[in-house]
Formats: sequence, structure tokens, C-alpha cells
Amino acid sequence: MNPTATALPIDWHGRADALSLDGRAFIDGRRTDAGGDRRPTVSPIDGRILAELTSCGSEEVDRAVAAARRAFPAWLRKGAEGRKAALLALADLMEAHAEELALLETLDSGKPILQTTTVDVPGAISTLRWYAEAADKQSGELPAVPHGATALVTREPLGVVAAIVPWNFPLEIAVWKLAPALASGNTLVLKPAEQTSLSVLRVAELAAEAGIPDGVLNIVTGSGREVGAALAHHMDVDALAFTGSTAVSRTLMEASGRSNLKRLSLEAGGKSSNLVFADTADLRLAAEKAAFGAFYNQGQVCSANSRILVQRSVHDEFAGLLARAAAAYAPADPLAGLDGNGALISAAHADAVEQWITRGRAEGEVLFGGERRCIRGSDAYLEPTVLGGLPGNHDVHREEIFGPVAVLHAFDTEEEAVALANATEYGLAASVWTSDLSRAHRVAGDLLAGTVSVNTVDALGNTTPFGGFKQSGFGRDLSLHAFDNYTAPKTTWIQFG
Ligand code: NAD
Repeated sequence: MNPTATALPIDWHGRADALSLDGRAFIDGRRTDAGGDRRPTVSPIDGRILAELTSCGSEEVDRAVAAARRAFPAWLRKGAEGRKAALLALADLMEAHAEELALLETLDSGKPILQTTTVDVPGAISTLRWYAEAADKQSGELPAVPHGATALVTREPLGVVAAIVPWNFPLEIAVWKLAPALASGNTLVLKPAEQTSLSVLRVAELAAEAGIPDGVLNIVTGSGREVGAALAHHMDVDALAFTGSTAVSRTLMEASGRSNLKRLSLEAGGKSSNLVFADTADLRLAAEKAAFGAFYNQGQVCSANSRILVQRSVHDEFAGLLARAAAAYAPADPLAGLDGNGALISAAHADAVEQWITRGRAEGEVLFGGERRCIRGSDAYLEPTVLGGLPGNHDVHREEIFGPVAVLHAFDTEEEAVALANATEYGLAASVWTSDLSRAHRVAGDLLAGTVSVNTVDALGNTTPFGGFKQSGFGRDLSLHAFDNYTAPKTTWIQFG
């Protein structure tokens, strides 16, 4: 090895140009088409057509569910150790193909390659390994029962699980469902978002290569209204794990009620607040983290801290620091390997986000940002933007924007800050900045949110549950709690006396 050799930067554009991508669904261990019906999937980076995506219909959904049902008994009989080995083999293959997966994720979603190579793909692999390892470390219970009997409480898989996932973290959120569902012995039919199906389709191929039996992991591509609804209404799907909007969550509850009462776990929308108190030890750090909380992933994060509530005495100083910190999230060519943001999921979504900026400008003010950018011929790029001068009950404070647009608002008292933060229909996340330990505990206790981060934002890891209160949904991704979405306790009572 030559110690002076330095790695050349990767020519991601060259690699992207050389790709030839397969957009066909993956059912029962192989790629398959739905009677030739396909729709192009387009990259928001530069508008290029990436692949022709199979538009599955109810027939393909039936085939995928039947394959998953057939595969279930053998997958269960593999035992926890066998499933662990198979999932670890998949994780190893994903690692071997990490750059390829990152490129697919960037092309499909518009995320910068610097993030997909360092966050999305390694994060998905780490979560997969975590659940694979957890598979054979679960124990049951031996509850106290009357003399002459023994009762065993075991955790049983539910059978065929469907997962419907969104486009903002396509691979990571797919693995948040796939890993605990498969590790605990279920088989899966997964529907990716129609905008971002390519990385998970490739993972399904790698799963077959890793020796995961046919039918254990199926990917049905296509629209929510057709494929998603067919899964939600299916009489042979035992559980449905969803991440997406609150509006679609409602339709899934109705579908479950109208069909077979399939178990639901719903990770829905959010409108999360970041509360910055004047006693914050390091206001600059708070501003840098606030920018991350509001603008990371182009602000397309369900737990984005897009309401920044700042105590009045430090509001103006904080606003200046935030403007400086936001510069790190200026959009750039996602394949250039640079820091900063990439493209939003589509120009149409950027239009919808821009409407909020237009409203903010008309009814309040744009403190900074606010402009659309055209990069590589695509105008799916938006500057990080902060709105101000809007009353605390304005729509901008309550509705999910799902783009790089935050609102800044001054408060006077702790009670006012907590009341403002809780005054939304959502309850996914919140952050608190203070150096007063009592206040940290008091405010964290009062905030109605599934995760409260103190002196950081949007804290999350494999070991901690992630999910919402109120209309942000129910059920939890990540941590051992996720197994609750995919298993049910079973009592075996043995009478011997
Ligand atoms: P969406 O609800 O429109 O779509 C999510 C998924 O549901 C997609 O796969 C889509 O095809 C499918 N779908 C759409 N209509 C359907 C229907 N009628 N029946 C069944 N499936 C259907 O959401 P989106 O625009 O893709 O993603 C953004 C939303 O996701 C935001 O609201 C965001 O907050 C939420 N989200 C939540 C979390 C969380 O963990 N709570 C994480 C990421 C995103």
C-alpha cells in the first residue's frame, strides 16, 4: 500500500449517468411486472427519468400477500437465531453495496450524497443489525398462577405484516419497519412511496442474495390510492405499519375497521417546537442545533423543529445567530459531495412549500431566505427560510409545512411557552434549551410529545422509542418497543396438579 496515496473524490454524476435501473416490483423472491403497466420515476435533482416503476394493482398485492403467507411458517421455524443470521447477512450485503444504495437514495429523494453515504444508509444498516441481534435476546414470562399449574407468556409474531412508508427517509424508515417485523418472525409486504422506491427494491434483491427465503420480503410499487389502499383493506394482512401523513392515517383506521381489524401502528405528521429559554448556556450552539432541527433533510422531517419559540430577552440575538447558522443549509448540487441541503422531493412540493412563504410574507415577514433556486435545470430547491411577526395561533404555527421553512416567535414566561408548544393537534417531538435543571424536567414533563430533547434537538437512536402523542399517531418505531407493533403476547397455561 502506498501511504501517500489519497482517495480521489467519487464522480457521483458519472456513476449516476452509468446506471440502468430496474423499477419492477419484487414479489416472492423475484422481480415482476404488472401486465406491463409502468410509470416513470423522476429525480428531483435534475428531472432525469430514473426508471419505469411497476404500477401494481390489487392482483399484485394479492400475489405478494399470498407469497408472504406461504413463507410465514418456514420463516417462523427458522427460529430467532436463524432469522438473526439471515438479517445479519443482509446487513453485510447492504454494507458491501452502501455506495450504490446511497446513490439510489440521493437520485430518488434529492438528498445530498454526503448525507445518504454518512447518515441514511449507515443508519439503516445499523438499525437492521440492532434488530437482528435483538431477535435471540428476548425472553418470555412465567407469571404467578395457582398451585398445580404453570403459565408461559410468549411473544408471537402476527403473521403477514404490511408496511407503507413515505419518501423523506425511504430506506431508513423502511428498515425501521422491516427489521423488527422480520426479526420477530413475521413476513412482510412493503409499499415504498411512489417517488422513492429504488433503494428498497435493491435491498429486496440483496435479501434474496443473503438467503432470506422467497416471499419473506415483498415490495409492491405504485400509488397509495391503489396499492396502499389494497393493503389496508386486505383480509389476509394481519398488521399494518405506516409512516406518513395524518390524513392517510385516518383512511387506514377506517380500512382496518371495514376489513379484518388488522393491527395498526401509525407514525403520522408533526409540528414540533423548539423552546429556547434565556438561561440557555450556549445560545450559539442552540441556534446551530435549531437550524439543524428546522432545515436538515430540506425540512422534510416529521419531527422537524419548525416552530422556534425564544424567550423575549434573547430573541433578537438568537435571530441573528440562527440566520448565520442557516447558511449551512443553503441548497447545492446533491451529487457534488458538498455540505448543505439538496432538492426537495419535487418541484410541485417546492411550490406547495413556497405558498407558505408567500403567506408569511403577506401576513408577517420573511426574516431570511425565502427564495427558490434552480440547480442543474431543476427548481426543486429552496433556501432555508424563517418567518416572523405572525401570531402564535397562526396556521404557520399549527400546520405541517414539510419543507425548509420555520417560524420564529418570542415568548415571555415558561407557562406561555409550554402552552404555545402544546397548542397543535400533533405531539411528535419537542426540544428545550435551558441551564436550569428543574425547568428542564418541569417543561419536559409538561410537553405533550413522544420525544423531548433537552439541550439538543430531535434526539433519536436505535435504543429509544420514536412515535407520537395525539394526532401524530400511535405505536413506536425503534427500540424494543417496536416489537409490540409486530407481536402479541400468548398465554400457554399448563395444568398439572
Ligand atoms: P403520505 O401520507 O401522502 O404518504 C405516505 C405513504 O402512504 C406513501 O407510500 C403513499 O403512497 C401512501 N399512501 C398515500 N395515500 C394512501 C392511501 N389512501 N392509502 C394507503 N396508502 C396511501 O405522506 P408523504 O407525503 O409521503 O410523507 C410526508 C408525511 O409523512 C408527513 O406528514 C410527515 O410528517 C409524515 N412522516 C411521519 C413520520 C413519523 O415517524 N411520524 C416520519 C416521516 C414522515
